[in-house]
Amino acid sequence: MKLRGKKVSVVGLGISGMEAALFLQEKGAEVWITERNTSPELEKRLQGLTRKGIQGELGKHTLSRIREADLVVLSSGVNPAEVWIQELKEEGKEVIGELDLGLMHLSSPYIGVTGSNGKTTTVHLLKHLLGEEAEIAGNVGIPITRLLRTGEIPSWLILEISSFQLKSVKKFQPYLSIILNISPDHLDWHANFNDYRSAKMRIFQDQEKNTFTLWNAEEDWWELQKTNARNYFFSATHHSRPGCFVKDNWIIWRDKKEEAVMPVREWRLQGRHNLSNLTAALAAGILLGKPLSLLREKARTFPGLPHRLEIVRWWKGIQFVNDSKATNVDAVYHALLSLPPGIILILGGQDKGNDYSPLFSLTKTHLKKIIAIGESRDKIYQEFSPLIEVIKVKSFPEAVKISSKSASYGDTVLLSPACASFDMFSNFKERGEVFRKLVEELP
Ligand code: ADP
Repeated sequence: MKLRGKKVSVVGLGISGMEAALFLQEKGAEVWITERNTSPELEKRLQGLTRKGIQGELGKHTLSRIREADLVVLSSGVNPAEVWIQELKEEGKEVIGELDLGLMHLSSPYIGVTGSNGKTTTVHLLKHLLGEEAEIAGNVGIPITRLLRTGEIPSWLILEISSFQLKSVKKFQPYLSIILNISPDHLDWHANFNDYRSAKMRIFQDQEKNTFTLWNAEEDWWELQKTNARNYFFSATHHSRPGCFVKDNWIIWRDKKEEAVMPVREWRLQGRHNLSNLTAALAAGILLGKPLSLLREKARTFPGLPHRLEIVRWWKGIQFVNDSKATNVDAVYHALLSLPPGIILILGGQDKGNDYSPLFSLTKTHLKKIIAIGESRDKIYQEFSPLIEVIKVKSFPEAVKISSKSASYGDTVLLSPACASFDMFSNFKERGEVFRKLVEELP
């Protein structure tokens, strides 16, 4: 895309919006940036851009000014489905995301990872396996436009890509795509589950021949999909397709023949779902040509990520687990399966149209009590109280106090909310940190 002399409006002064603006300016475009919010941090960011000759506004989006541009670039936090953005498109304005802008100018190959759960864990694991050769970019990593601007392009870019991004991305052509799993999520945003699933399928639809798609062998929707790429599979159990799987407590790679990769006991993370993520990442590493011995060496030292089934403290024989990143029902389901029975579950927050019924079968076998918190606490009370004791609380200190009193030696107190955190916190990290601090303060 020719950028020199082009008038561009960048919408959103998030990190990716700021990087897009700097990249566009370097390419000779005439850039203006607009951000709806204000904060001291945003003011500082805008001042930094102004010093470099990029003007902008905070606290509003002046539509007439945005319209003056030949091209509109959206920061990754801006929802492309917003009515005024749709209207701009209908008027014929070219609107793209920062991701599109980056991909259009990128010449090195990339790996796309999507799924309802496990994306961040898997991209970090893959980076751990590939080392210096790879960089995590996009949503959870460095904006591609920044890498392009600084010229620090590694051999492989690993991109975590959400259903929102897939829905709007213009062209996505990974060398290897991974679809980790699909379960209901974000149904407050997508029209229905089918719409959400179709967005995820977008990940492989532009792939070319001689590229790869990795599917979860335990989910069956892949059978209906057509891809130019070569299909491989992964699973935490045994299967008969080419790819990576687990047999007799060993991780095996099967292409034409079967080869042992590593014993499961060398893997540090808890839960079958994390084993599934491991098989996906190992399969990717193998398809990228890495030796099995190297992958084994690296995989055994992956420490996991905070806020995902993270043990924060053992206190009086009770383990406290921070799974604040569990923002949907499926993640909680897998958390419960990963831990020994006798769980006091802190559940609730901002509900995303959740159907809690997949958890019902585990309440009797795995749970001791539910502590319901946040906006959704009444809904949780109604749904679960016929099955198990549910205590409604108003604050995190109260939740930790009651759960620690309710737990006895050998039990687990698990924060795995199945909900977004925005009713009480600015994000899931803050929620997890508050939980950690309260647990650390227990006498
Ligand atoms: P994402 O980036 O897709 O949100 P994360 O790696 O951050 O994924 O994990 C989010 C939540 O999902 C955590 O609670 C984690 O324990 C859980 N999780 C991780 N991998 C899986 C999986 N393969 N299936 C189900 N839940 C998972």
